[in-house]
Amino acid sequence: MAVIGIDLGTTNSACGVLAEGEVTLIPNRLGEVLTPSVVGLDDSGKLVVGRTAKERLINHSDSTVAAFKRLMGTDHKVKLGRQLFSATELSALVLRSLKEDAEAYLGEEVTEAVISVPAYFNDNQRHATKLAGELAGLKVERLINEPTAAAIAYGLHEKREGNFLILDMGGGTFDVSILEFFDGVMEVHASAGDNFLGGEDFVEAMIDSVLREFELDRNTLTPRQLQNLYMQMETAKRRISQQSGQCLELELGSRKAEWQVTAEWFEKVSTPLMLRTKRPIERAMRDADLPPQKLDEVVLVGGSTRLALFRSMVGRMFGRLPSCHLDPDTVVAMGAAIQAGLKSRNAALDDIVLTDVCPYTLGTGIINQDSPEQGEYFLPIIERNTVVPISVVRRVWTAHENQTEVRVDVFQGENRLVKKNVYLGEMSVPVPKGPKGEEAVDIRYSYDMNGLLEVDVTVVSSGKTFNKLIEFTPGALSEEEKASSLEKLARLKFHPREDEQNRALIARGERLYESSLGEQRDYIAQLLGNFDRILEGQNPAEIKKARASLQEILDRFDGEDWI
Ligand code: ADP
Ligand code: MG
Repeated sequence: MAVIGIDLGTTNSACGVLAEGEVTLIPNRLGEVLTPSVVGLDDSGKLVVGRTAKERLINHSDSTVAAFKRLMGTDHKVKLGRQLFSATELSALVLRSLKEDAEAYLGEEVTEAVISVPAYFNDNQRHATKLAGELAGLKVERLINEPTAAAIAYGLHEKREGNFLILDMGGGTFDVSILEFFDGVMEVHASAGDNFLGGEDFVEAMIDSVLREFELDRNTLTPRQLQNLYMQMETAKRRISQQSGQCLELELGSRKAEWQVTAEWFEKVSTPLMLRTKRPIERAMRDADLPPQKLDEVVLVGGSTRLALFRSMVGRMFGRLPSCHLDPDTVVAMGAAIQAGLKSRNAALDDIVLTDVCPYTLGTGIINQDSPEQGEYFLPIIERNTVVPISVVRRVWTAHENQTEVRVDVFQGENRLVKKNVYLGEMSVPVPKGPKGEEAVDIRYSYDMNGLLEVDVTVVSSGKTFNKLIEFTPGALSEEEKASSLEKLARLKFHPREDEQNRALIARGERLYESSLGEQRDYIAQLLGNFDRILEGQNPAEIKKARASLQEILDRFDGEDWI
């Protein structure tokens, strides 16, 4: 029986299988090898996963979730319709979808998988990933570190030994790992990264630049306009490395404007982000105590490393071209599939992580005086991926006149806004009354991997220190909890596989309907109405024809490659 390899990504997931020495990537029910890691429930309570769910993300935000990998190994629950789900359960639903796709493709039952995880995942997160597999009906005896999987896909394990630098930039994160391969064992030697740096940040920077140019604020745009702008920029970003000088028609508040997306503009906008990628690279090199000339290979992984600017920057940094001839979106899945194939022959590669790192960002909330309506902003204190033990101090100032108390909330997470992160605890300390911004406190977080975070708050003017221990070892599930989780997930069902193409197309049509106005909107409504009628007719040949023509028309409204 085949063991499949799965890349369970923050943005996209993929799976593959090794047969006769060759990796095959397994197409999902839409015939695509990338499945967006997005889960939702539709109006009939049925499960939607992947592209269809991603199309519904904006207009059905109460019943659709994405990026839950960031919450793996925490107790945080996400609301979907009327039910609460853990990140493990949501991951299980993605895995279930991939498992079914693999079964349909291979024509046999699939009960075992190797799943990849970021090198910095701690025990809790690794257990949560295995548990997700179990909840999806997959036995996961082995996990593989994502950078190791990428190295294997590039065949680096076939050398005798070597040092490899793996740079992985996905949708929201940038991970840097240094691998040392020796005697058949792949060791993660150093790992660093930036958890607020990925493909989405480039799009955000593009949007900011456009708005600055027209002297507009985000909140002068309607949600529909902002969403359209986002899509236009995402598409433009993906094309920029091939094509400069795209002309976009933007709708900004009450005005319409043309916008030239040139390589020069994109370079200017993305330079600060490009510069930020250098820091973790340098830190990992330093941590591994490795001079650049000792590196045998630099490997690029993740969709965002398609950016030509990034490639050339890495090239300049190391004085050579990085390896990027394999598809960066699927290279981790390919490596996981090879490991899965080796595993079924009991020949899997050993893959060790040496560094103990803090797997989440730990921080506090601060008030942003410029946009108080957003709620508190997250101020990271210990950054994710920091090698432990670690102790970091940051100073904050009073925010109100005559404030007599400073409350330090403790959050874990990766979001800019504290309300989207996980609350761990709080403490309050008294400060002398005075004008705002005069009194300051130093907040020190110390973390040493035993599950206790020590928070020390020192009032700067008096030197008084207050201390609190915060425990955060989110528990694994008990047998009963596991059983009830299984039961809950078993109640959720997919629509029939063969309908998925129609559903994805309708979801896309509905998104376009919501994002357009006037005549165009009426036209889309009419198209969707016609399509519904043809579906009701249940004539497969007609449905196929109608689908192709609807797809072609929708392609004219937005770039076909936004997913
Ligand atoms: P993750 O590891 O987070 O699941 P992926 O490796 O799938 O993510 O990368 C997703 C990111 O890659 C998205 O932000 C997407 O915009 C970006 N991306 C995909 N194709 C391109 C491209 N041609 N140019 C630039 N960025 C791209
Ligand atoms: Mg990835």
